[in-house]
Amino acid sequence: MIDPSLLARLKAALPPEALLAGEQLAGRTEDWMHLQPMRATLLLRPGSTAEVSTALALCHGAGQAVITHGGLTGVVHGTDTTQSDVVLSLERMRKIEAIEPLQRVALVEAGVTLQQLQEAADERGLAFPLDLGARGNATLGGNAATNAGGNRVLRFGMTREMVLGLEAVLADGTVIPALNRLIKNNSGYDLKQIFIGSEGTLGVITRLVLRLREKPARQEVAFAAVPGFDALAALLKHMDRALEGGLSAFEVMWPEFYELVTTPPSGGRPPVPHGAPCYVLIESLGGDSAADAERFQAALAKAAEDGLVDDAVVAKSQAEGAALWALRDDVMQTARWGLPFAFDVSVPIADMRAYVERVKADLRTNWPNVRAFVFGHMGDGNLHVVVSPDGLPANARPAVERIVYAPLQQVGGAISAEHGIGLEKKAWLSISRSPAEIDLMRTLKRAMDPKGILNPGRVI
Ligand SMILES: Cc1cc2nc3c(=O)[nH]c(=O)nc-3n(C[C@H](O)[C@H](O)[C@H](O)COP(=O)(O)OP(=O)(O)OC[C@H]3O[C@@H](n4cnc5c(N)ncnc54)[C@H](O)[C@@H]3O)c2cc1C
Repeated sequence: MIDPSLLARLKAALPPEALLAGEQLAGRTEDWMHLQPMRATLLLRPGSTAEVSTALALCHGAGQAVITHGGLTGVVHGTDTTQSDVVLSLERMRKIEAIEPLQRVALVEAGVTLQQLQEAADERGLAFPLDLGARGNATLGGNAATNAGGNRVLRFGMTREMVLGLEAVLADGTVIPALNRLIKNNSGYDLKQIFIGSEGTLGVITRLVLRLREKPARQEVAFAAVPGFDALAALLKHMDRALEGGLSAFEVMWPEFYELVTTPPSGGRPPVPHGAPCYVLIESLGGDSAADAERFQAALAKAAEDGLVDDAVVAKSQAEGAALWALRDDVMQTARWGLPFAFDVSVPIADMRAYVERVKADLRTNWPNVRAFVFGHMGDGNLHVVVSPDGLPANARPAVERIVYAPLQQVGGAISAEHGIGLEKKAWLSISRSPAEIDLMRTLKRAMDPKGILNPGRVI
């Protein structure tokens, strides 16, 4: 329970709309799918950085744990609460404060959704290239806190590469205004990087300066059936070279996933016939309508000639391109038989085929009828392995985790490519980080949040 004297101080210091408790929390959940009702009994909704600072200073004084909530689309239980936690939500900080076409930056509050900024940039002939399936709910603060990756990392990098500056509030309420607007600024430590990817454990991100790009004039999308993994790896290199910097996505699907999203009851239909060993969605973004289309077609034709592609379709319109992307985004089909175990690993491309074969074989050895789906951002070495719980014993999760995570150590892989650690992957952190790295993470946490009030128990 929350200390009544802290509650009284918060009520006195914040406007009424910034505090919700009791019946006002009815219907509130801790995840975007509304599966888990909120367990915390007090929700703070500051409307400004000053109010975030006031709220944190008071909670810090009382040693009160605070869990930060963005769009709740995170998938590693980072936003789970207990009855004794206070939730701090950025839902009232949803302003796009400025978009500067000349400098190509946006200044936003952290509760703005990814889609809100994508659309606002688009209206001004610009683009914010971060993109992920959860774009309608995920917030830019959450994207930065998790260093989200998504569909176009191959070309534009992860969120880290798109954040020029940010403002964050430390556990004790101190505001760090690191709102740099410059692409190049080596004036001392780049403090924003400490907060990006820290999953809310080192500070609450309140505002961001984000780098925008010129809106691409042209998008080419193709979907191809590929004769095998070696051909897939060669195709990635070929397309990257042939498209001269234009390749923006290379999204691979193993047959189980492709068949799932292109067979009823899924709404998707197969753009190329079933039966190939691998499939890939290829996208390029460019600025020259005629030349881009020609270059893309020629690159694919050469790939087919060289035996790297068995069959392919090229989208002839934006709608056709969107339909191909919809297959890749339709990951919720994997939840048809119950909430699946979803993994997000990084594997060097040279080791990817053997890794996938080993994981699938180990799963089948344990549970012959297991449903496992593999797909992901192959251009970034990032695979999603999704295992359906149906037919598995109720306590199968730790064994499934071991099958997916253990082989990563030998190949220098990562247990989290983009989703983060949260509460879910903490026990496995030592597979991807050395003891010295984990010690330094603890030292940083102690220095910035000595009472451990921010998202306690997450990451380390
Ligand atoms: C359908 C779907 C597709 C997805 N696709 C991708 C993908 O392709 N790539 C990818 O990387 N992720 C993906 N995700 C995961 C998720 O969308 C990202 O992790 C996203 O960045 C989370 O943003 P959020 O606002 O929902 O954060 P939340 O879920 O609310 O929070 C996530 C973590 O960040 C912390 N946090 C949130 N806001 C702040 C803040 N302002 N300051 C400090 N800490 C904060 C929270 O405490 C929590 O630990 C997907 C999720 C779904 C449901």
